Amino acid sequence: MIKIVKFGGSSLASAEQFAKVGKIISADKERRYVVPSAPGKRNARDTKVTDMLYACYALAEADEEFRIPLMKIKDRYDTIINGLNLRLSLEEEFKQISVNFRQKIGVDYAASRGEYLNGLIMANYLGYTFVDAAEVIFFDEDGNFDPDKTNAVLSERLGKIERAVIPGFYGCAPDGSIRTFSRGGSDITGSIVARAVHASCYENWTDVSGVLIADPRIIKNPRPIKTITYRELRELSYMGASVLHEDAIFPVRKAGIPIHILNTNAPDDEGTWIVESTCHSSRYTITGIAGKKGFVSVNIDKDMMNTEVGFGRKVLSAFEENGISFEHMPSGIDTMTIFVHQPEFEGKEQAVISAIHRLAEPDSIELEADLALVAVVGRGMKSTRGTAGRIFSALAHANVNVKMIDQGSSELNVIIGVSNADFENAIRAIYDIFVETQL
Ligand code: ASP
Repeated sequence: MIKIVKFGGSSLASAEQFAKVGKIISADKERRYVVPSAPGKRNARDTKVTDMLYACYALAEADEEFRIPLMKIKDRYDTIINGLNLRLSLEEEFKQISVNFRQKIGVDYAASRGEYLNGLIMANYLGYTFVDAAEVIFFDEDGNFDPDKTNAVLSERLGKIERAVIPGFYGCAPDGSIRTFSRGGSDITGSIVARAVHASCYENWTDVSGVLIADPRIIKNPRPIKTITYRELRELSYMGASVLHEDAIFPVRKAGIPIHILNTNAPDDEGTWIVESTCHSSRYTITGIAGKKGFVSVNIDKDMMNTEVGFGRKVLSAFEENGISFEHMPSGIDTMTIFVHQPEFEGKEQAVISAIHRLAEPDSIELEADLALVAVVGRGMKSTRGTAGRIFSALAHANVNVKMIDQGSSELNVIIGVSNADFENAIRAIYDIFVETQL
C-alpha cells in the first residue's frame, strides 16, 4: 500500500517543524511519496516564503534592487538547513534564481521556488529522491492543468522510484516555462500524485486536527468532523470553510482515494476523513455549518406572476445581461427573490433594475442589502425528521430573524438568509442545538 503525504507551509516553517514531519514519515513505511509546500509562517507576524518571493520578484520586474530581499529568503532556508544539521548548500540555486529574476523569467517561476527549494531540503533530510515537479506535472497552452499527460508521465516515473519528494504548487507549460496552480495549490499536487500511483490514501497534514464543524473564529474550540463526503465538503468550502484547495478533490475523487486531514502538531489526533460515500452517520445529524456575509436580495413583485409563462427567464436574463451570477432564488405566488453577491451587484444595481423593468414589467422591485447566508450541511438530514424544526426553533430562541430558507432537493443542505448583524448569532445557535446539547 502507498500513502501520499502532503505537508502545508506551517508544517515546514522551521527546523523544529521539519523534525516533526520527519518523525511522522518514518513512523509508517507506506508514506512513500512526499509533497511539501513552501515554508509558511512561524508565528502570526511572520511572512510566508511564497509571499516573500512574490514581493522580491515584483522588485526585479520593476528593475529595482532585489538582492537583500532575496538574501532574506535564503536565510529562511539556511536556518532550516542548519537547524537540521544537513550538509546541503543552496548557494548555486540562489545564484541561478538571481540570474533568472534579472532576466524577468516570470512570476510563476518566482513563486514556485518556495516549494522547489523546500523539496530539495526535504529530499536531503529524508534520503528520498527529488523529482522536480516541472518534469512530471503539465499545463496546456491556455494555462490549464493537463491531467492525462501528467498522469501518464508521473505514474511511469514514480513507478521506478521507491521513495520520492515532489514539490507542490507548480508544473511546466508546453514552452518549458514554469506555471503554478492558484494559491494553496500544493494540495492539488498531492492529489495528482495520489492518483498517479493509485495510493490507498492521500494524507494532507496541516495545523488543525481536521475539518471543523464551524468556523473557530465564531465558535470556541469547535469539534472536528470525523468523516465528510466530497459533496458535503464542497458545499461547506463554497460557503467559506477553508481547509483544502477546492480543486484538490477532483483527481482523488476520480480514483476513489480518500483524503485524510491530519495535524502535524498533534499527529495522534483522529483528523477528518474525506470520502466518496460512507455508511458512518455523522454524530450530530449535521456535518458542518458555514456561511458568508455580503448578499443583497432583489425582491420582485408582480400580480399574477404565477400564471405568466417565462417570467423567471426574463428576470434572470436581466442579471445575465449584466454579467451577474445569482446564488438563490426562492419564490412565492406573486413574488420572486434573487440573492446576489453585494460587491458584484452594487455597481450595477440600477442597470439591473432597469433591465428587469424592460424585460419583465414587474409592479415593483425592492432591494435589501447587508444579508448573510448560512449553510447547514449534512448527509444525515435526509433520514432524520425534525432537522429544519430544530434549526428554526434555535434561531427563534436566539432572536434571529430568518429572511430566507432554501433546501436543495438533495436534502444535503439547508440555506438560511439572515441579516449580516445576526450572522454570528445564527451560527452559534445552530451549533449549540446540534452539537453542544448532544455532548
Ligand atoms: N506556497 C503556495 C501558497 O502559499 C502553495 C501552497 O502552500 O499550497 O499559496
